[in-house]
Amino acid sequence: MPPPVFRFAPSPNGFLHLGHARSALLNFDLARQSGGRLLLRIEDIDATRCRPEYEQAIYEDLAWLGIAWEEPVRRQSEHLELYREAVDRLARDGLIYPAFESRAEIARMVGEKERTGAWPRDPDGAPVYPGIGRQLTEVERAQRIRAEVPYALRLDMTAAVARTTGVLSWREQGAGPDGETGDVPARPEQWGDVILARKDTPTSYHLAVVIDDALQGVTHIVRGQDLFWATGVHRLLQELLGLPQPVYHHHALVLDEAGQKLSKSTRSTALQDLRAGGTTLAEVRRLVGINPS
Ligand code: GLU
Repeated sequence: MPPPVFRFAPSPNGFLHLGHARSALLNFDLARQSGGRLLLRIEDIDATRCRPEYEQAIYEDLAWLGIAWEEPVRRQSEHLELYREAVDRLARDGLIYPAFESRAEIARMVGEKERTGAWPRDPDGAPVYPGIGRQLTEVERAQRIRAEVPYALRLDMTAAVARTTGVLSWREQGAGPDGETGDVPARPEQWGDVILARKDTPTSYHLAVVIDDALQGVTHIVRGQDLFWATGVHRLLQELLGLPQPVYHHHALVLDEAGQKLSKSTRSTALQDLRAGGTTLAEVRRLVGINPS
């Protein structure tokens, strides 16, 4: 049996906080206990928010946590062509369409719809895409593209789900926000027509994460519960692209004193600041509830 492969996959768009420490330490401990490998992936597809100094801080923070990872580190921004190919493949399968609305237009449409009743929200609380992109004719699409109206590429969720056979589910070794564990049914349709390629970059989080996990041979995905329901979209994409399915382990988020999810902009829980303030590794492990293994 080849060894299990774990990965920690932060985005360098801010300083890591205690929540990231919980994810990284869990990955590290589980990899070590199972004789597995630990990979590090820098998820830097968002060129407007990612910065080299944050990436540098990730390496420093992880080293401070006593974590060792395999080299080379994979940087998503260096593989955009690969994601583009996957989008092309889904487009050839008729599962993708361009959506031309701006964020402001989408907000306005949702506002109008909500005047006459509730409009569905995705598990993150964002309104499901209300636009008309899917209904445009080829001629209308071509006209807009010629006029250089920027567009995102969205997955036709109904068509994509119809393409799968049997019940789509995943194996959960941790737990969801309501204690869901074991064989969890994937419900990708609750996200609506998700974006697979953004206006400014030829991929999105959902697509890049699924492709990289497969390409890097990741067998165990250990991450925060905030990504629990996104796993449904990931399972769908794995099926559509013929990729293997890893095992998932979602862990509880570290919350602040007000019971809120930590933010990358709060200094008091940033690993850089805790280190500068003299916090020890043993204290960090205690704070995130992971005892030394
Ligand atoms: N890059 C994502 C984040 O920083 C994590 C992705 C994942 O673990 O699947 O939130």
